[in-house]
Amino acid sequence: MSSSAIPTARKLVTDIPGPRSLAAQRRRLDAVAGGVGSVLPVFVREAGAGLLHDVDGNCLIDLGSGIAVTSVGNAAPEVAAAVREQVTRFTHTCFMVTPYESYVEVCEELADLTPGTHAKRSALFNSGAEAVENAVKITRHATGRQAVVVFDHAYHGRTNLTMALTAKNMPYKHRFGPFAPEVYRVPLSYPMRDPAGLTGELAAARAIDQIDKQIGADNVAAVLIEPIQGEGGFIVPAPGFLPELARWCTERRVPLIADEVQTGFCRTGAWFACEHEKVVPDLIVTAKGIAGGLPLAAVTGRAELIDAVHVGGLGGTYGGNPVACAAAQATIRVMRDRDLASAARRIEGHCLPRLRELASRFPVIGDVRGRGAMLALELVRPGTVEPDPELTGAVARACHARGVVVLTAGTYGNVLRLLPPLVIPEGVLTEGLDVLAEVFTEVAGPR
Ligand SMILES: *Cc1c(COP(=O)(O)O)cnc(C)c1O
Repeated sequence: MSSSAIPTARKLVTDIPGPRSLAAQRRRLDAVAGGVGSVLPVFVREAGAGLLHDVDGNCLIDLGSGIAVTSVGNAAPEVAAAVREQVTRFTHTCFMVTPYESYVEVCEELADLTPGTHAKRSALFNSGAEAVENAVKITRHATGRQAVVVFDHAYHGRTNLTMALTAKNMPYKHRFGPFAPEVYRVPLSYPMRDPAGLTGELAAARAIDQIDKQIGADNVAAVLIEPIQGEGGFIVPAPGFLPELARWCTERRVPLIADEVQTGFCRTGAWFACEHEKVVPDLIVTAKGIAGGLPLAAVTGRAELIDAVHVGGLGGTYGGNPVACAAAQATIRVMRDRDLASAARRIEGHCLPRLRELASRFPVIGDVRGRGAMLALELVRPGTVEPDPELTGAVARACHARGVVVLTAGTYGNVLRLLPPLVIPEGVLTEGLDVLAEVFTEVAGPR
């Protein structure tokens, strides 16, 4: 198929999934571990800015970006060109054996882009979970303490340590224990579910009191938090929560680690979500959006913390792979040149009024929230805050059947989340929202 024949809008020529996808899915079930699921078993052949072309000739609207990864678009031309160029020169040396400049340049960019003007260092890894683990290793080593404080509804990954850091049992932790010790969970600020009048400051005081009484600041190696929770349900803490937590961390000399794996790299309308409340974390963990779909992750932060670790204490065979670094450089260039933080704010401006209008018509929508291109609806039984995960699943499936890829999230499985690529054409986004509105009329009853 020539590229001119590729549709530039949603196009359905078969049921979703179509016959070729169904055939591939049958093969997959006989070859791929059953524990690895798929939201929608539509097999992809090609993808671009907000569109997924499947093996049956359907074209789906992508409101998930492969979980907030392809923010610059899928196979973004600049990223593809950088990868092609790098892959013909060398694919791997191992930075720990013989280094290369692109790794250094990505670390320079990270120092430049992340909040705070202090001296910074970075180390590169392959996945968000691996980077979170390394951030914890660094703070434990630098402080000589062991306790790690995490929050209700947190998601930090699926490795042994990050399972312990993650809150939700199913599907992430169930029967995968024993989990790593010295992980302590404290309450988050969850405005929709907190008692009325619990401000961000008071919610922070509630968490801090628990840290003080149950762990003791002197034992805390790090406080680890997603500035806006991802898998936990796109929970935006009440204003003041993060700054108060950061203030306490500074006062008690406890390193604050921001897990910006999902929120980072322009997703929320700023380079990093911490910036919305002028919070400067000691370490910041990034991955997902950093390299346009290639696997790369980073820990960036205070030089004195990161350089406390002895030579050889950090690393890995593939960490900061040269192809992934080339992709990250191209991704960052696109984000800067095309000001994708502003693009995310435009997406928010485009979507929020429509989502609020839906909420005004459908009382099953208990909350509309998020920042930038990280937006969510929380579905409840009307007039209550009782979660409705069945309806949430039904809405998602109906969107899928109509060729719009949306994701769900949340401790209660009742959050519908939108993570469009930041370069999605406005017409495609509008059509995706039209379909969502249609689906609510069908699934949640006409209003
Ligand atoms: C996805 C995610 C992770 C884990 O990243 P992987 O690359 O899947 O290991 C960690 N933290 C947050 C906030 C995430 O969204």
